[in-house]
Amino acid sequence: MTFATVAAVAIVAYQFLPGDEWLLAGWQVGIGWLAAAAIVLGARRQERGDWLPWYLLAAGVFSNATGIGVAKTCALLWGLVDLPTPADPFFLGLYPACAAGIALLIRRRDRWANWTAMVDAATITTGFGLLAWVYVIDPINLVSHMDRLAHAVQAAYPIGDLLLLAMMTRLLRSGGSRGGALWWMAGALGTLLLGDSSWVILDNLGAPGLALEETPWFVRILESVFLVAFALFAVAALDPAADKLGKSAQESTTRLGAGLLMLLTGASLIAPGLLALQVHQGQVVNGGSIAIGSTVLFLLVVARMAGLLRDVERQARQVRELARSDELTGLPNRRAWNDEVPRALERARRDHLPVAAAIIDLDHFKRFNDTFGHPAGDRLLKAASAAWHGTLRSVDLLARYGGEEFVVLLPGADAASAHEALSRMLAVTPQDQTFSAGLAVWDGEETSEELLQRADRALYLAKDRGRNRIEMPAAA
Ligand code: GH3
Ligand code: MG
Ligand code: MG
Repeated sequence: MTFATVAAVAIVAYQFLPGDEWLLAGWQVGIGWLAAAAIVLGARRQERGDWLPWYLLAAGVFSNATGIGVAKTCALLWGLVDLPTPADPFFLGLYPACAAGIALLIRRRDRWANWTAMVDAATITTGFGLLAWVYVIDPINLVSHMDRLAHAVQAAYPIGDLLLLAMMTRLLRSGGSRGGALWWMAGALGTLLLGDSSWVILDNLGAPGLALEETPWFVRILESVFLVAFALFAVAALDPAADKLGKSAQESTTRLGAGLLMLLTGASLIAPGLLALQVHQGQVVNGGSIAIGSTVLFLLVVARMAGLLRDVERQARQVRELARSDELTGLPNRRAWNDEVPRALERARRDHLPVAAAIIDLDHFKRFNDTFGHPAGDRLLKAASAAWHGTLRSVDLLARYGGEEFVVLLPGADAASAHEALSRMLAVTPQDQTFSAGLAVWDGEETSEELLQRADRALYLAKDRGRNRIEMPAAA
């Protein structure tokens, strides 16, 4: 808070300083160095001691701010103003340092490869990259009075900006907490990009006659944009939640909100838009670049779509599984049973094999609930399900039919082996509890409902005859 106030006052004061070049440059460098120091301070205050990303950011800010002083010294003492100047390495140092710091933060936030976030960041960067190429980077080669090194240095700035744009979008799309620090950080990067693109726009489109880049008060405002960016980095570092910035996500977020969708659409339309514009102007100057850009953007959109489809399919699978299993016991539920049994009967008919079905009902379960409580009843249902399931073969099907009623399908089992299987189940019922079961062997003709009805009648018989037993209907 204190830092933010000091920085704000210093930046506002900058607008009203007397026009002494040394003072102005010194003031800017001072704010930059102060911000770098504040970032280091903020990092050291974090409990988790995850300092490296912040040190890199501080180094970037320090380097860039120092560049302001170097540039001014070169210009005032030696008249060095044409690119490249000794200040450029300092200015440019910001990009790799910041990008590396943010890359580290991203790696800590997303423990596993977050493809969605990467595709989104790549889409936005490619769109704006094409724009930067056509209007900024490519035209640099046309400036004939500069040598190769100067060309490269001038191109390095927009490329550095694109790198930061990629990092910012990737950071914003990462999982993990989205507290104040994340927004301050994004604000800092956005402000930096705003400042850089303002210079570019002024340089390239420089409204003739206005000569804004030579209007002192305007230049000061533009310079302040960078000071604000420095300060925002520091505010992010000093934020109480700054340590959460490097904390990993619990789950990956793949939301595609309206704003993001619009941004991705806009970025994807940059390539055809540029082409249309150049056609309209009567000459397609960047046909090759636009073709490459469109291709990459198209593939990214397809990749994004494939990712969404994969998500939808995975969720559909999860919903299907949820709809077919019982929540308490994890067994297949009545719906799954109703789907499965007719198929099993069909297989039995084809293979000329017997198949048996049984209904199981816990004895005096109401009494158990009343005695030990409903939660204990739930635990018994779970434990009994697991114990019964353990005695069955993998081809058998045990399902929860409802309440304390279960159904079993025993493919290949005749009356004797089915009875044996149920006896084994009865024996492992936990907590000295018992069940009654009605067992029916398929007669080769009846439907699954008729088979279950016969088993149900046998269950009534078992209850009537004193429970804790397995009954079979007399052969027809
Ligand atoms: P019987 O031997 O005649 O089958 O007696 P019973 O008490 O087992 O039968 P009844 O149908 O009278 O009672 C079934 C009880 O099962 C009543 C109900 O509260 C309990 N129940 C049903 N579903 C659940 C459940 O999911 N959890 C628990 N804890 N109890 C359940
Ligand atoms: Mg019952
Ligand atoms: Mg019962």
